[in-house]
Amino acid sequence: MPRDFLEGAKDEYDVVVIGSGLGGLTTANVLGRAGYSVLLLEQHYKLGGMATWFKRPTGHIFDISLHGFPAGMIKSCRRYWTREIADSIVQIKNIRFDNPMFSLTTTYNRDDFTRLLTESFGIAPEAIKSFFETARGMNFYDDQSTTTGELFEKFFPGREDVVRLLMEPIVYANGSTLEDPAITYGIVFSNFMSKGVFTFQGGTDRLIGLMQEELINNEIDIRIRCHVDRIHVKNDSVAAVEVNGRTIRTRAVVSNANLKTTILKMVGEEHFDQSFVDAVQETRLNNSSTQVYMALKPNERIDESTGDLLFSSTAREFRTDLLLSRDISSRTYSFYYPNTRPNERPRCLVVSSTNANYKDWSGLSPEEYEASKQDLIETTLDAIEKYVPNMRERVSHVEASTPITFEHYTKHVAGASFGTKFEGLAVSRDLPEQVAGLYHAGSVGIIMSGWLGAINYGVIVANAVDGMLMKSAELPNPIAKESISNS
Ligand SMILES: Cc1cc2nc3c(=O)[nH]c(=O)nc-3n(C[C@H](O)[C@H](O)[C@H](O)COP(=O)(O)OP(=O)(O)OC[C@H]3O[C@@H](n4cnc5c(N)ncnc54)[C@H](O)[C@@H]3O)c2cc1C
Repeated sequence: MPRDFLEGAKDEYDVVVIGSGLGGLTTANVLGRAGYSVLLLEQHYKLGGMATWFKRPTGHIFDISLHGFPAGMIKSCRRYWTREIADSIVQIKNIRFDNPMFSLTTTYNRDDFTRLLTESFGIAPEAIKSFFETARGMNFYDDQSTTTGELFEKFFPGREDVVRLLMEPIVYANGSTLEDPAITYGIVFSNFMSKGVFTFQGGTDRLIGLMQEELINNEIDIRIRCHVDRIHVKNDSVAAVEVNGRTIRTRAVVSNANLKTTILKMVGEEHFDQSFVDAVQETRLNNSSTQVYMALKPNERIDESTGDLLFSSTAREFRTDLLLSRDISSRTYSFYYPNTRPNERPRCLVVSSTNANYKDWSGLSPEEYEASKQDLIETTLDAIEKYVPNMRERVSHVEASTPITFEHYTKHVAGASFGTKFEGLAVSRDLPEQVAGLYHAGSVGIIMSGWLGAINYGVIVANAVDGMLMKSAELPNPIAKESISNS
């Protein structure tokens, strides 16, 4: 008999959270801590969503998305998770750029960028100050018609090299483009510039392990290998979820799964206004990624001056389509030295990441797909020689992932690395207006994605759910046990 992953689960919870990405985990933790009964359902065999890792028998542990996040993670983790998690967040100081326009190393904060822009790029200090202040002053309610490209043109007209310096890491960090609203750039860029780039010491496996302990302390019922097929709606309110053949009642559902899948597949468009459905259909997905994971032989070391993060490109100009092209010219290398996991066997690893289009990988035959992956590996091994000489001889394990891999493990439509584009945020926020008790907390747009964005959005949504449950505390559950259906 197949194992029952819902064995012992109750028939009803205050809240059901679908998906255990950082957004879902945080919503579950905040609500569990507040005393609600919370069921956390994850379709994969481990928690974390894109915040994940994998081990190989050779003893290597590869991180997928632990490359860098802003200092704000410390505060968010201290407040909504634990001191131990917050105290494990450390700065990475050696960030490098290498492209045909410039090569430089920076700590990636305002002081150092001001120095670089003045000394190496010859920009007047007033223009730099004014740019930083404009970016920092941007907020959610600002005009959204100015694009990031227009913002750069205003402060640094004709300076493609400056645009590249300011934009390349952000494109990598959240898939944003020069055509996106400037506020999406300004908020994320300023978050990084406040103190630099940070990482989690001990690796993603340690972080998710610590989060799981905290969830258990807060009595959240965690279930893996539980794929939610449907969210039942009755009288315009959430009623239950259907998972592994069971129907579990609840007053509130928070979906951390892909926004479009949640609305169009799990709930069904018949439960929403036509104009809302149109907005969902028009919401664009973010791009996906490819990665190449390289582990060095046990005694091989990479000199730490090679950098922590290296934005490398051979493209002469900076263009979004070039960053996504199957003909890869840009790679971001993350170097993991033995101190990433001080308690594990000392190892040096490199992960090369490149933004990618799903369609470049989805239509291939199995043979073509394998050949394309091998080509990705070979060209990456060639490209990294410039920074890690004799890599081919020094490497003991190499493998690659593609948009198909991300889709497979997270169920994100088209393997989107950062959920939807910016317009998804309004759709996500409006969900409870359409169906009472229905929420979404997960990657939408640029501000609410990435590790910090996902965690913070998880908190915002937990607060909204709390408000709704408090208000409806006196009301009986509108759903009679036997009458649950999606009609
Ligand atoms: C290659 C790559 C590199 C990245 N690098 C960085 C970086 O350097 N810094 C940074 O801050 N961010 C980075 N990110 C982005 C960051 O990892 C994500 O934005 C963030 O982790 C997403 O969290 P989330 O809450 O949106 O959920 P997700 O991680 O998207 O998780 C959603 C979860 O829902 C589950 N699920 C889906 N459907 C169902 C269902 N029907 N039933 C049950 N469960 C379901 C999935 O299995 C998954 O666990 C990177 C992402 C990628 C792909």
